[in-house]
Amino acid sequence: ILELSTALKKKQISAIELANYFLDRVNKFSHLNAFLDVNPEITLEQAKKADEKISMRESGALTGIPIAHKDIFCIKDKKTTCGSKMLSNFISPYSSEVFSKLDTAGAITLGKTNMDEFAMGSSNETSFYGNVLNPINEKLSPGGSSGGSAAAVRANLCSFATATDTGGSIRQPASFCGVTGIKPTYGRVSRWGMIAFASSLDQAGIIAKNAKDAAIALKYMSGFDQKDSTSLNEEVKDLQKEVDADQEHVIGIPKGLIENIKNDQVRDSFKNAISILEKDGAKIEEINLPHIEYSLPAYYVIAPAECSANLARYDGIRFGHRSESVSSLEDLYVNSRTEGFGKEVKNRIFIGTFCLSAGYYDAFYNKALKIRNLIKSDFDEAFKKVSSIAMPTCSNSSFELGSISDPVEMYEQDIYTIPANLAGLPALSIPAGTADEMPIGLQLIGNYLEEGKILNLANKFQKLTDFHEFK
Ligand code: GLN
Repeated sequence: ILELSTALKKKQISAIELANYFLDRVNKFSHLNAFLDVNPEITLEQAKKADEKISMRESGALTGIPIAHKDIFCIKDKKTTCGSKMLSNFISPYSSEVFSKLDTAGAITLGKTNMDEFAMGSSNETSFYGNVLNPINEKLSPGGSSGGSAAAVRANLCSFATATDTGGSIRQPASFCGVTGIKPTYGRVSRWGMIAFASSLDQAGIIAKNAKDAAIALKYMSGFDQKDSTSLNEEVKDLQKEVDADQEHVIGIPKGLIENIKNDQVRDSFKNAISILEKDGAKIEEINLPHIEYSLPAYYVIAPAECSANLARYDGIRFGHRSESVSSLEDLYVNSRTEGFGKEVKNRIFIGTFCLSAGYYDAFYNKALKIRNLIKSDFDEAFKKVSSIAMPTCSNSSFELGSISDPVEMYEQDIYTIPANLAGLPALSIPAGTADEMPIGLQLIGNYLEEGKILNLANKFQKLTDFHEFK
């Protein structure tokens, strides 16, 4: 971002030239299916305005920087599908706060990126618009649900991309595509205009080429928003400064974690990454997270429960897909939802409705909430003695498209990422090695509103290593 921004300000390149460069690449790599919508006229119109601002010396930090938005963020008068047939005809009447903030900072929108339907999935295969290919090996999955954003960044189709993470959807695709992804603290970034999956877990973030870019992008996306009642009214720290500051780090490693990593290459890369940071001066401490093993089952009650409530609004009447073949009101609801939602989304609605139904509410939903509280307290305790917690992002590198048919096996993709969502903590993934010749990520989890701390550590790591470098 800084390099492009300097080149733009020095007029070594114009915003129009830069936008055209990326638009050409988006076109050239269209077979990756990373983008669902591109609108060159609007992009070039924005670029023209950016050039004018630069000429008048009125440019901001992101003026003229071409980016992509996950198709979960509404943009006024633009199609926002959320990867679903249900919203294939939805033109948003307003813009998400994420879009508005980055737009105000001067970023240029190249288009909307592909994703798992309603952000439910870990491979981008549940998208109604077809899966995305991993740019490193096109037979493999880019991860999900923000697969389009991760693939677009990795294939250099944009400078950075927005994404969302409910249980791992920023970090797991970042890990699979060898790029950097950060999910901030719950409430740090407004959810206004971001299509809801599981509202108490959903959080917007960034997929970028490195920690520094992620810090700059996140800084301009963060902040209190009255329109989102869960948005945090806390000062936005200068992440751009913090990422490069001289900071001390104490890294916590959960007891028993390393021995339990099944994949040898994932385990070795993790150990190697930690020793690099330790040699650089970080202190390593063992911590206890006794309830973390219940994260996955708790998540797969809470997330579907919230999804079943959130997706009730798609009734074929107010907006979204409406079935043609109906003879009664009941038919209209049933047929519109049957036709509009894909299999995975339906699975989640069934599970969620079941968990919330009378008689099962206490046994499933309430119990899951109690587990969530225990996990939060485990983290609170751990952060009394450490400044960040390290784990692998995922227990494996990318897999072949179509190779995982068992839903539970797919759910296990998020075994390491879900705890941070349940606790609402910031967490990021940076490239830290390879397994089966594909990248794997190191995950760093921070304390509440300490995005700067984990970005600083990630930046240190990226100064010492070149896992994040690619052409
Ligand atoms: N893979 C997880 C799921 O399908 C997480 C998705 C996400 O973070 N949006 O629920």
